[in-house]
Order: sequence, then C-alpha cells, then structure tokens
Amino acid sequence: MKKLIIVSLSLIVLQTITAQEHGIINNSQSPHVKLKSIDMGDCIWTEGFWAEKFKICEETMVPYMGSLLTGDVGHSLNNFKIAAGLKEGEHKGMHWHDGDFYKWMEAAMYVYAQNGDEKLLQNINGYIEIIAQAQEEDGYLQTQIQLRDNFDRYENRRFHEMYNSGHLLTSACIHYRVTGQSNFLDIAVKHADLLHTLFMPESKQYGRFGFNQTQIMGLVELYRTTGNKKYLALAEKFIDNRGKYKVESTYTTQGYPIGDMVQERTPLREADEAVGHAVLALYYYAGAADVYAETGEKALLDALDRLWFNVTAQKMYVTGAVGQAHYGASTNRELIQEGFIDKYMMPNLTAYNETCANVCNSMFSYRMLGLHGESKYADIMELVLYNSGLSGISLEGKDYFYANPLRMVHDTRDYHTHANVTESAHREPYLNCFCCPPNLVRTIAKVSGWAYSLSENGLAVNLYGGNKLSTHLLDGSELELTQETQYPWEGTVKIVLQECKKDPFELMLRIPDWAEGSTVLVNGNDAGIEVNSGHFATLDRKWKKGDEITLIMPLEVSMVEGHPFIEEVRNQVAIKRGPVVYCIESTDLPKETKILNVYLQGKSDLSAVYHKDFLGGVTTIEGNVLLRTNNNKEGMYRTVTQPEWETHSTQFVPYYAWSNRGEAEMTVFMPIIWE
Ligand SMILES: [Zn+2]
Repeated sequence: MKKLIIVSLSLIVLQTITAQEHGIINNSQSPHVKLKSIDMGDCIWTEGFWAEKFKICEETMVPYMGSLLTGDVGHSLNNFKIAAGLKEGEHKGMHWHDGDFYKWMEAAMYVYAQNGDEKLLQNINGYIEIIAQAQEEDGYLQTQIQLRDNFDRYENRRFHEMYNSGHLLTSACIHYRVTGQSNFLDIAVKHADLLHTLFMPESKQYGRFGFNQTQIMGLVELYRTTGNKKYLALAEKFIDNRGKYKVESTYTTQGYPIGDMVQERTPLREADEAVGHAVLALYYYAGAADVYAETGEKALLDALDRLWFNVTAQKMYVTGAVGQAHYGASTNRELIQEGFIDKYMMPNLTAYNETCANVCNSMFSYRMLGLHGESKYADIMELVLYNSGLSGISLEGKDYFYANPLRMVHDTRDYHTHANVTESAHREPYLNCFCCPPNLVRTIAKVSGWAYSLSENGLAVNLYGGNKLSTHLLDGSELELTQETQYPWEGTVKIVLQECKKDPFELMLRIPDWAEGSTVLVNGNDAGIEVNSGHFATLDRKWKKGDEITLIMPLEVSMVEGHPFIEEVRNQVAIKRGPVVYCIESTDLPKETKILNVYLQGKSDLSAVYHKDFLGGVTTIEGNVLLRTNNNKEGMYRTVTQPEWETHSTQFVPYYAWSNRGEAEMTVFMPIIWE
C-alpha cells in the first residue's frame, strides 16, 4: 500500500515535470504533432557559430534595437505612451509599428530565457505597464488608430490591426512561458476576447478582415497557453473566411490590393500555389499549420503540403529566400506586390526577398517539421538561417536589409525613388518600415529553441551548433547532453550524453540534403544504421552517461546550377559549401571591375579556408575567376565579339556577410566557362 502511494505521488511529480509547455510554440498537448518543442532555455549555445551570433544578439542587436524603438528614432514606445496618456504627441511610424515593438519584446524574452538578465525583464515589464495603460477598457489596443482621429476601429484591413494583434498575442504568450508572470498575458486575453466578440460571428462586414494574418498563430498560442478553445475556433475561422466572400465586395478593403495579393481568391484548402505577398502568405500558412496541429483536418494538411512544395521547390532562391518580385502578377494575372510570381521565374538583380518573408519561410518549415517529423523541413530552416535570414543584418548587428537580392549592380536602379525605401544598395541603421529587423532579431534569439525537438521516445537534432542541452523526454525522463562542433565551417559534430534514462530511446540526427556520404559513429565505432542525406538517421538503443556520438558530414565546395526552367541562371552557377551559399563582391576584384564581367572557370580549384578574424570568423572559398575585358559595347543587343579574359585569383565570401566592407557590387550566380 505504501509503495503504491509513493508510485502515484511520483507520477504526479512526473506530470508536472514532463509537460514541455514552455516551447517557442507550445505543442506539448497538440495531438497532431510528431516532433514537439523543447522548452525555451533548455538549449544553451556554448561555442561556435550560433554562440557567437547569440552573443551579438544579446549584447548588441536587442539592446541597440531597444534604444531605437523606445527612443525618438523608432517612436514605437512613444506611441504607446501617448495612447496611455503619459506623453503628448502624435503617432509616428507605419500602421504595423505596434506589432514590430511586440516582436522586439519577444526577442528580448528569448534572450532572457537564455541569460536570466533581470534588468532586461524589468525593462520589459515597465513597457508592459505602459501598454496596459494604452489598452482601452474593452481590450482594443492599436495606437495607429487610437492616436488618429480620422481612422475608425476595424474600418479597413490595411491598417494592419490583425498583424499587430497577432504579434501582441504571440509576444505575451512567450513572456508568460518564460517568466510565469501574467501581466502581458492579461492584456492579450482581454484583447483576444474583443477579437472573438467581433470576428467570430458570421459577418459580411468583417468576413475579409484578416490581413497579414499573424493573428492565426497568435490565437493558437493563446489557446495553448490558456486552454480556452474559443481562441482556436477563432483562428480556424480566419482560415475558413479566406476565399469565402466575393473579392469584389468592398467592406473593409477599400483602396488596397485584393484577391491573390492577400490570398483570398482561392480558399486555402483548395490552394496548390503560393500567391501574392510572400510575408502575408507564409504567416497565413504557418498559422494554418498551427491550426492543423490541433484539429488534424486532412484537407488543411494536404493543402499545406502542396503549398510548401510550391514555395520551396518551385519559387525559392538558392539562399532560401522567397518573394521574387517587388511588383508583379500572380499566375491568375492579378497584380501583386512584394511576393510570389510564376514558378521558376527567379530574377537575381531585382529579387525582392524581404527579410520577413525569408524568416516566415523558416517559421512555416519549423511547423511542418513538427507535423511530419521529416528532416527536409529543417533543411529549409537551416538554409534560411545561414543565408537569406542572416543577410538581413550587418555583422555588427546594427544595420538592416529589407530586400535580399542575389545580385547588386550599381547604377541600375535609383533606390531613393522607391516609395518605401525598402530596397537598398547597403544596409541601413533604421528602416521606416521596421517589420524585418525585429523579426530577424527574434529569430536569431530563438534558434536554440529550434535546434532540438522531442519525438515520442527520444530527441531529434534539427540544427547543429555547440551547445548544452538539459531537457526532459516526453516520458519525463531527464536528458542532458553536450554538442561540440565548429559547424557550418567544419562537418564534424560530437554529441556526448551527460544524463539519460536507462531504457532505450532514439536519437535522430538530421543528415542535410547536401551531406551525401555522411557517417555516424557511436563511441568510435560505426553505428551500423542507415545514414541517408535528406533524412534523419535514427539511433534507437540503450544509452549511458559518457556515450559519444560522432556525425561526420563531408563539407565539400560544390557548384550549384538551377533547373533549366530558371532562365535567369542558365549557364550560371552558385558556390555552396554545406548549408552556406557564397557570393563574390567587387571588393575582392581589381578596382573598377564590374561584377557582370566576372565568370567562373569550371575547372578551377576551389578551396575552403577558415579566417578567424575576417567577417566575424568565416570560411571563404578561394579560386580563380575570369574577368572579361572586352565587354564594352553599347546598345541593348550587340554582335558577338570573341571574349578576352584576364584570370584573377580571388575569394568568395558567405552571402550573409556581404556588404560589410563598404558598398560593393555582388553576385551569387556567375556565368561559367568550362574550357
Ligand atoms: Zn519585413
């Protein structure tokens, strides 16, 4: 009898320990998720690439961005203060500026989850007090409307109320999970209750209101945090509403793009092509993946599978970037901005590739990784992180790109005439449209939470980087391990178990799609398991403290070509080593060399060299290029002249690190000469 009581008591204790309810997305109870989140703070970077990036994030990116947003440059805290009656003044910034502030707060909470900096939390809690005072009695909280007499609540979706709401809900859930404090969550609940009252009933007025729909992800997280199903129902409602109402009706949509631009021409469950604004589309798909995680509706997953394929296999750049055009048309011939055009239509020089869209691509893929448990989704997360994600911020952590084209040629575009100045030849210290910087910084801050997932009886290693993991498997058993690696510059990863249960469990190692010929050793001996690139290699066995797993991935320099349908890169190649895509900058060429005169010699030896003190510590690729010296004819079309060449020995730098040595021309793809 006594024994039984002990057993049942320990079960209760176990239950409280085991629930992994503090993940970036809390899918601990989600019935249709195969790989679940570890808790924030379980994985701490210790060495190498991500430890260094996180340090910059902690010491520079978050504090510096905080000084912008809480000061007069960014003005977003000012907006809340004015709405709270604590300050005189007017609203400044884009309609979505509140949302961008919430994103920065979220980034700060990821940092706090890692370092426990109480001063940081105190500051955030101070801002939450101001935000609480800015919130109206009924829960409404949108400074862009509250501070402007000429706008009414929910009058027009272009005012981005849903976007701000979504980031509010997400940020508050993260704050609650990290701190256990409900001050921010209370604001979010009050706000979501108002949304539920207005948007849950069937209504022509509000049926098409969802716009830039981060609120779907936010509502699902709020459901997961509070257990209140009405938030999940509302999230699903926003999906159901899309494509249901006639696009020609004008309720709440006057003066702003409609149809494919905002993914409302085709209901999601019938969609097989990503259309319209890339950020809008991918936030929407990511939200739908969260809804599927709870409802298990097959039609939703089928659609998401089709869309993920369309995005990543037909409309994505080699850098993981998405959203090919600033202005263009969908395949239904509707005008779109900042988004998807036809498949395989991949301009380099004019590519838009908004940093947010690239980040959203990885957010969508992280959710799909959870749903399917397949490593190909983590391949995309990684591709974005090392390339089109990080390219959005300078190495120092203070300057930002909004657009991430794959080629930069000076004097081909007048960037200053672009209405929003969202495209630029160099990174800017502040962008009037500030959606991308905090989106990227919150992502850099949270990569450790993406690095591992929990399977039914084990652990999946999604991303590599030196770290210490201290977590619980889903059965509540303790698991501690360390990961040592200089990835992505070196291909060897060593994992050492520090603490684990006695019963067998699985360790799943992602073998990236490029890592053909990888090997896995356990305690120095071949593991005797199948190791296939593009899949998880699963070690299912008994483990003990001190067991050492070694993954060796061959990191070779490779040339990558595009599908023949991609006209823009025919007879051109990009250089890639592991997950890192390279580019050539005019800085590394003889003075006055135009980047369009650079050709790659197919047979030239390309070798990888690590430089500790260059560009924050990078491996460059060294080799020869051919510079065409007689490409001076005028005119749009010219009679061909036999090319003349100079050979030049140079280096290629990681794409993400370009434009950190002054303004330069740059290209990822280069024409190739095979002779
Ligand atoms: Zn953005």
